[in-house]
Amino acid sequence: MLKISKGLRSKIIELDKFDISLFEEDLAEKAKMIIPKIFKSVKKSRRDYKNEMKTPPGDLKHATKEFWEEIIKKAKSLRIDLIGFAPIDENLIFENDYVGGIQFLYENGIVLGMEMDYYAINSAPNPPAGLESLRIYAELGVATNKLADFIRSKGHKAIACHPLGGPILYPAMAVKAKLGKMGKQGLLITKKFGPRQRLSMIAINADPLPENTNEDVEISEYCEKCRRCIHFCPVNAIYDEPIVKHNGIKTRIDSDKCFEYFYETTGCSVCIETCPFHKIGYEVLYYRQI
Ligand code: SF4
Ligand code: SF4
Repeated sequence: MLKISKGLRSKIIELDKFDISLFEEDLAEKAKMIIPKIFKSVKKSRRDYKNEMKTPPGDLKHATKEFWEEIIKKAKSLRIDLIGFAPIDENLIFENDYVGGIQFLYENGIVLGMEMDYYAINSAPNPPAGLESLRIYAELGVATNKLADFIRSKGHKAIACHPLGGPILYPAMAVKAKLGKMGKQGLLITKKFGPRQRLSMIAINADPLPENTNEDVEISEYCEKCRRCIHFCPVNAIYDEPIVKHNGIKTRIDSDKCFEYFYETTGCSVCIETCPFHKIGYEVLYYRQI
């Protein structure tokens, strides 16, 4: 059973546009280690996808409670911080996955998240924040591939979707997987990290999905009043009100404006840094009656 895009457009991610010339010595040295790791993990997920498509599955395969428990345990051992489960919504699949080359997905999704370093993000839009974004693209990319390998070793089909680019709108899938809610800047806001995580996904042909035990997150009232990310975005890329498409999918960002600045700064992250759910944290804001 394969799922395909219903026409959601995505933007080309040009990997060679990331400019590390602004990085000073030690950061430049770190970037030289991190960037090849991103490329290597993207290549592996592309290769694995091609192999998957040689023998796409016919039917869904039954998955036991124990199988899902093993997946969660393995994810933790790979230092994945967030895990949630949801059926794949075809409305959220992009027409083109320019980085990973993925066109088809399986029935269900395992959404994964990894925290970015609090202090590095506080430096946004300066190089340490950008480098941290790249570091998590690499770390989560490698971990996603390893988890997909583990799933295959258990006899299931799995497609690893890299955190950089990706074939599907990750924050919206993460909301479906009950990991959090979507902020004004289009990022996932979670209880643990606010907007301070990167996301990836594994598409899997296993069913039924495990029960979702993630606690509910409520941010809409606070977000409506706050609007800090809209105000502080250096290039005014965040829409005051999201554009709602015919299929109900919301566009919150002018991606042309955002991407140019994102490349220039190698990862911007201002809309993460300015968000009170990053700075102060969900629990404290909630306690203050958000
Ligand atoms: S900065 Fe404010 S408006 Fe923007 S996502 Fe965070 S809470 Fe919502
Ligand atoms: S990443 Fe930077 S440029 Fe893009 S929306 Fe956020 S603050 Fe604006």
